[in-house]
Amino acid sequence: MGSISQSLSPSFYSNKHYINGEFVESRCKETYTVRNPKDESVLSDRMAVAGDEDVEAAVEAAEAAFNGPWSSFTAQQRTTCLNKLCTILEDKLVDILTLDSLASGNPVSIIPTREKNYIITAIRYYAGWTDKQKGDYYPADDGFVKLVRHEPLGVCAAVNPYNAPIATFIFKAAPALATGNVLIVKPSEKTPFGSLALAPLFEEAGIPKGVIQVLSGGGKSGALLASHMRIRKISFTGSVPTGKKIQIAAAQSNLKRVTLELGGKSPACIFEDANLDNALTWTVNALLARSGQVCVAATRVYVQKSIAKEFIDKYVAKLKEAADRLGDPQDPNTGLGPLVDQLALERVTGMIERAKQDAELAVGGARKGDKGSFVEPTVFLNPKAGSEILEKEVFGPVSIVKTFETEEEVIKAANDTEYGLMAGVFTRDVSRALRVSSKLEAGVVGVNCVSYMNMQAPFGGKKASGVGREFGEYALRAFTEPKTVLINMNA
Ligand code: NAD
Repeated sequence: MGSISQSLSPSFYSNKHYINGEFVESRCKETYTVRNPKDESVLSDRMAVAGDEDVEAAVEAAEAAFNGPWSSFTAQQRTTCLNKLCTILEDKLVDILTLDSLASGNPVSIIPTREKNYIITAIRYYAGWTDKQKGDYYPADDGFVKLVRHEPLGVCAAVNPYNAPIATFIFKAAPALATGNVLIVKPSEKTPFGSLALAPLFEEAGIPKGVIQVLSGGGKSGALLASHMRIRKISFTGSVPTGKKIQIAAAQSNLKRVTLELGGKSPACIFEDANLDNALTWTVNALLARSGQVCVAATRVYVQKSIAKEFIDKYVAKLKEAADRLGDPQDPNTGLGPLVDQLALERVTGMIERAKQDAELAVGGARKGDKGSFVEPTVFLNPKAGSEILEKEVFGPVSIVKTFETEEEVIKAANDTEYGLMAGVFTRDVSRALRVSSKLEAGVVGVNCVSYMNMQAPFGGKKASGVGREFGEYALRAFTEPKTVLINMNA
């Protein structure tokens, strides 16, 4: 690939995929354009769309890699490579994330601390797991010794969303590699640059070519991966409708394993005994991180009636203030960037306009400026039952606030959704915290926090928010399958 500095320009990636250890010209000639969402300037007008032949080339290289030297790497060798990748990234990750921000609009101000830390932490965490997958042994009480091994699945694919491209890449690659798999990554067509720039660093860290490959392209390329007969697993993060298509494609092809990390409409339930400042901090930050383009964003805030006025006044004031922080995401002083593109702008402002008929607008409610895809943080009060703004994920800086009187009432309201990714309960009463957290239908429930994930513990959705879990030991299980070996002791 040459040096990383050469590859920090988006145009370097025009018409390229990263297959079998090198950047190669796309065989499929279809291309598309990626723009900077802050001003619509073109970053590349020739990004590749992986077609059949590109996918086939990647799968062949992946199979060769899976059956090649990588298969005989010891656990310790895999750990050494993953740790070396961290050392390389200490140096290069900020540049890669900065490159990515050109297309995602994520503010570079979050890169050096928050973003960099949790990416490197994830790799180090899985680097420590390689030699701890012990399997099982059952004695020969019936004449058969039983051994259970957790074996890698083989050629896996990751299909990723646009909001946190490098973090998502690593959340899938680190456990996949720790368990000895090989992975073809398809970043979102909206944010392809950072993932392509990251790919060669795995080889620099000592991981053989073909183990990590990156294909550029959109839904069509993703669909080719989902329906491929020799890919054994798809690890998908994205929207519910795409997740359903992937599960169907997997079922109709080779029944490849599927994990789905999907969308949410996460509730935060704030009781009158809560530390109000803490509840404000978490619910405001939850909505503003990446301009609301966060799967776990707390976009339904339920507040107990006795404290509703005080909470709503402060919540609305903080979000009003935040509108002043919207600005150029490449400026290190900017806290809040644009939505990812014009399509997202149209979708979000469309939902805001329709919501004005169904709820009371408390703050925001408009695009900011006339250049780029900036949207003011927006809050609606008391949406009508069944309204779009109450039920559908916006994936922008938009929330609703409703009041409640009793615990039963708020649990019922919080669970009245098809989503089940995240929930929060804010209270100083420990028994209530435990009671409510057990009743909330979500894969993760925060007590006095919300929209927060931790690498050590499983993360994923209940109900339509997903299938399977990432993070912690659970991600290792999602990239392996048990094999039972029966040994006849009487032969
Ligand atoms: P999306 O579903 O539109 O796209 C995600 C990926 O799927 C992209 O790479 C896209 O090219 C690909 N794709 C599109 N159609 C496909 C098809 N038919 N077959 C295979 N692949 C296809 O999602 P998005 O707009 O990029 O991301 C936003 C969504 O992701 C939100 O709903 C958000 O909540 C969700 N998300 C979930 C998590 C989580 O961990 N649960 C994390 C981040 C984002």
